[in-house]
Amino acid sequence: GSLAVSELAAKLHRESAEIIKKLFLQGVMATKNQELDKDAIELICAEYDVEVEEEVDVDVTDLDNYKIEDKEDDLQERPAVVTIMGHVDHGKTTLLDSIRDTKVTEGEAGGITQHIGAYQIEENGKKITFLDTPGHAAFTSMRSRGAQVTDIAILVVAADDGVMPQTVEAINHAKAAEVPIIIAVNKIDLEGANPDRVMQELTEHGLIPEDWGGDTIFVQLSAKKREGIDDLLEMILLVTEVEELKANPNRPAEGTVIEAQLDKGRGPVATLLVQNGTMHVGDSIVVGHSYGRVRAMVNDLGRRVKTAAPSTPVEITGLNSVPNAGDQFMVFKDEKQARQVGEAKQQRQVEENRSSGARVSLDDLFNQIKQGEVKDINLIVKADVHGSVEAMAASLEKIEVEGVKVRIIHTGVGAITESDVILASASNAIIIGFNVRPDTNAKKAAESENVDIRQHRIIYKVIEEIESAMKGMLDPEF
Ligand code: GDP
Repeated sequence: GSLAVSELAAKLHRESAEIIKKLFLQGVMATKNQELDKDAIELICAEYDVEVEEEVDVDVTDLDNYKIEDKEDDLQERPAVVTIMGHVDHGKTTLLDSIRDTKVTEGEAGGITQHIGAYQIEENGKKITFLDTPGHAAFTSMRSRGAQVTDIAILVVAADDGVMPQTVEAINHAKAAEVPIIIAVNKIDLEGANPDRVMQELTEHGLIPEDWGGDTIFVQLSAKKREGIDDLLEMILLVTEVEELKANPNRPAEGTVIEAQLDKGRGPVATLLVQNGTMHVGDSIVVGHSYGRVRAMVNDLGRRVKTAAPSTPVEITGLNSVPNAGDQFMVFKDEKQARQVGEAKQQRQVEENRSSGARVSLDDLFNQIKQGEVKDINLIVKADVHGSVEAMAASLEKIEVEGVKVRIIHTGVGAITESDVILASASNAIIIGFNVRPDTNAKKAAESENVDIRQHRIIYKVIEEIESAMKGMLDPEF
């Protein structure tokens, strides 16, 4: 920016004449009202030992503006975060399960595994974190939200089937993310297993084994028979070492949402992957467009924990709404600041939705699904009695049409309120009222926010309506 001589003088608590004289001595002829550029301002400020701080419009909703830079000395090794990818039926889920079953229970006696979207194991005294949702769809949908959580990709290829279309897709997704790939040639216990053919086929995609002069690590295993699991884990540790993955555990936590949903008893529940810093119970946190204080943290063994170090997944409660997978989160030292940023983000979300007209309405849901604009249908369910809320939420959550799922982000007993509408607006949700109506404020808000409220008196009609809307078979309304 620029500043007039008189303005600069005022800021420095000097007379304009004095500044003009200084400028003159520097070879700059100036009058009182003359605008000075950044260089001239800096020149004068340097004379008075004053540091120039440029005023810029900071986006208060951009978490990047609150990021703390780490000093190299503060960084310590952290566990790798691993995603398992590959063609359908090649054994991704089986591999995830056998790693967890063989490793988690070994050390942690009495632990009961909880599916929170990610888990951590220990091999040779070192930890490894696995994301529990196999496949590149989840991987890339997170990346499309700006979240890079995966450090290493395991590509599972069945030795009896070889490279298939989704194998190639997975390779491309991992390459696009510049993530190192380890090949797990699976099902070597089968009669028709032909690991050599798999290796041969993969060379066509630039994945060449070390024995053949390349640098791709291949591990042969049987996920089902639990053979070769240790080899794979050792290779992961090897790659981890090469990658020099680091984080600073001694700072406020930040990271990414792995998954989130509304829990009947606990409210919004989110699995967070801490990517830097350490998270503590009681921390003030902004997560996507929701915020709150970390009320409780539960790890992948269902145990309550008080802290979560880098690369650790934990399930937290205490947020005011349900964030999205792939959302960034950040802990703020100052509770007030967290609330301000959180509120601003929520508000921003509402405005963006309003201006982009991105609002989902049941009438054009099918079109949006077809165009791939909608992947989840967010619903808010309100009813007159608790039992109906539960029954409806349970049946609605089962609906899935062409990979598009229903996601209940909020439920409640009683009339539809303005706050329900704001939440719907912020989350592109449709509100379902069962034997309840919107109050006056909610009605007004729904109109201005363009939020779709559907009112019903019979449960199966609700289910039917949502299902038909997803299939593009909604009856026109008269
Ligand atoms: P995903 O679709 O990639 O998650 O594959 P799954 O893990 O569901 O496995 C598909 C099928 O392959 C299941 O019937 C598994 O039992 C079977 N399977 C997985 N790993 C192995 C293995 O190492 N050997 C054999 N014989 N079968 C396996």
